[in-house]
Amino acid sequence: MIKYDPKSMKAEEFINDEEIQATLKYADENKDNLELVDKIIEKAKERKGLSHREASVLLACNDKKKVEEIYDLAEQIKKDFYGNRIVMFAPLYLSNYCVNGCLYCPYHMKNKTIPRKKLTQEEVAKEVIALQDMGHKRLAIEAGEDPVNNPIEYILDCIKTIYSIKHKNGAIRRVNVNIAATTVENYRKLKEAGIGTYILFQETYHKEGYEYLHPTGPKSNYAYHTEAMDRAMEGGIDDVGIGVLFGLDKYRYEFAGLLMHAEHLEAVHGVGPHTISVPRVKRADDIDPSDFDNSLSDEMFCKIAACIRIAVPYTGMIISTRETPKVREEIIRLGVSQISGGSRTSVGGYAEEERPHDTEQFDVSDNRTLDEVVNWLMRAGYIPSFCTACYREGRTGDRFMSLCKSGQIQNCCHPNALMTLKEFLMDYASPDTKKIGEELIEKEIDNIGKEKVKDIVRERLVKIENGERDFRF
Ligand code: SAM
Repeated sequence: MIKYDPKSMKAEEFINDEEIQATLKYADENKDNLELVDKIIEKAKERKGLSHREASVLLACNDKKKVEEIYDLAEQIKKDFYGNRIVMFAPLYLSNYCVNGCLYCPYHMKNKTIPRKKLTQEEVAKEVIALQDMGHKRLAIEAGEDPVNNPIEYILDCIKTIYSIKHKNGAIRRVNVNIAATTVENYRKLKEAGIGTYILFQETYHKEGYEYLHPTGPKSNYAYHTEAMDRAMEGGIDDVGIGVLFGLDKYRYEFAGLLMHAEHLEAVHGVGPHTISVPRVKRADDIDPSDFDNSLSDEMFCKIAACIRIAVPYTGMIISTRETPKVREEIIRLGVSQISGGSRTSVGGYAEEERPHDTEQFDVSDNRTLDEVVNWLMRAGYIPSFCTACYREGRTGDRFMSLCKSGQIQNCCHPNALMTLKEFLMDYASPDTKKIGEELIEKEIDNIGKEKVKDIVRERLVKIENGERDFRF
């Protein structure tokens, strides 16, 4: 028997199968125990989070009234920690060369129908210019795993290129990185290159399922993959982003595993995940999502997001364009704080006039432009934020978390959101988006708590009108 220990550095001890099975049993036994459900909801109201066992009871509970209470609380917690801001980003696919055999991903090595492509530095520059011209300031770079075609030096070169491009008023100010699990030494190099968050999806926490889905290649090593965030933190990266690819395995198992991973990071490193992503498997080149019979309804997907929100209240939550506008709207309400917009999931897709499909990693379900997404968010009462200030001001890891937990982060985020939105309106927005945005900024200035900060923001907004850029608190 393998013992459960959140402080262990061994994958099978901190993501412990027996503990997850016991958790699911406990959740089943207690899902109608409304007294316990109430107690857990009361605890969640303290905004200090829930254990994987407690949160699993809430996820299993089907009582209509209690589920409504959970949703209301998720919405409230989201407002308390993240206000009405939504941070914007875009993925940038660098290379689809890959030596792994992941059954759900079209980049798998045996796929001979998909054209293989790796951006040259000139092509990276073209992509970045196209992304800057849309208004993006924050990217997540993506690449297949291939030590020959995409070695760490290639990734580092791309990061350097991305940060170096200053086209018109544009700049990419934060590069998050989503590449395969690697060594402490390589994580150190990424840290030195000035990355924001290191993101790695677990895909599934279920070891047997994981091994079935990853039959070949370096990614087939469950422990090496699961322990990656510990190596990343050892390498000095203090903002890490975790996630599950929902639809591959049983969602209740994944949910418990995800929370146990967050608990492990907090227990060992004193800081939990900076972000949690909730991607779902999508159709792609030679991939049919119905081959995995663990798909979940939109309702359950949203319930998972709400339960994550109240279980890990301080963590940013990310939703991509894998989801439709309708699902995105609901899930943003329930807890998501960061979304992609205008995304292209093909290698070199942004520099093309028409959306290319040949090298795509998955079908995009929200095909709107960034301007349309920004417009839609503002009409729904949100402030689209292009802010990248935290890590540039050294607010990372436990510094960020303690500011976030105490609610103080609002004093920086709200004004920064307004100033970066103003930049977007000046440089990239359509006339209608600009009009709505200007009204929104005017209204939201009043929600800045401190008079002095209000005055500074007003001054800076005028400076932005006059051509200055990149103000931040
Ligand atoms: N190659 C790196 C790795 O293996 O972790 C990371 C980059 S990969 C381009 C980004 C993520 O896309 C994967 O971690 C996986 O969760 C997701 N993905 C792969 N195939 C997908 C599909 N068919 N639908 C939706 N997401 C998919």
